[in-house]
Amino acid sequence: MEEEYEKLLDRAIEQIPKTVFESSRFQIPEADVSIVGNRTLLRNFKAIAAAFNREPEHLMKYLLRELGAAGDIQGTQAVFQGKFSPATVQERIQRYAEEFVLCKECGKPDTRLEKRERVYVLRCEACGARNPVRGV
Ligand SMILES: [Zn+2]
Repeated sequence: MEEEYEKLLDRAIEQIPKTVFESSRFQIPEADVSIVGNRTLLRNFKAIAAAFNREPEHLMKYLLRELGAAGDIQGTQAVFQGKFSPATVQERIQRYAEEFVLCKECGKPDTRLEKRERVYVLRCEACGARNPVRGV
């Protein structure tokens, strides 16, 4: 019985570094982009917002501003007026993650975006860090 417990304990300890390693290598979702006529579709927009655990409207506002484009959310995808390469869209998503999702202290994605008065604060649930972020 005791031996069994020790085995379990060993296994639990073995798993700690692995878990930390995995969450620190958070994968930014890959943008599924296609250009149709003069519009650019980000087909997996809702999935990206969900992976970031952010309001789709917040992500959309950021992308519109950063791309300097008009556009809207249509179902699960985002539609931008104008042509943007997949690399351009991916870069903006990457920057969004760095600014509004990943903790500035520990780099983990387990964060919440909280609005305090007129400023947004990125609060990390992993390490407890709080960092102000700009509005979008
Ligand atoms: Zn943190």
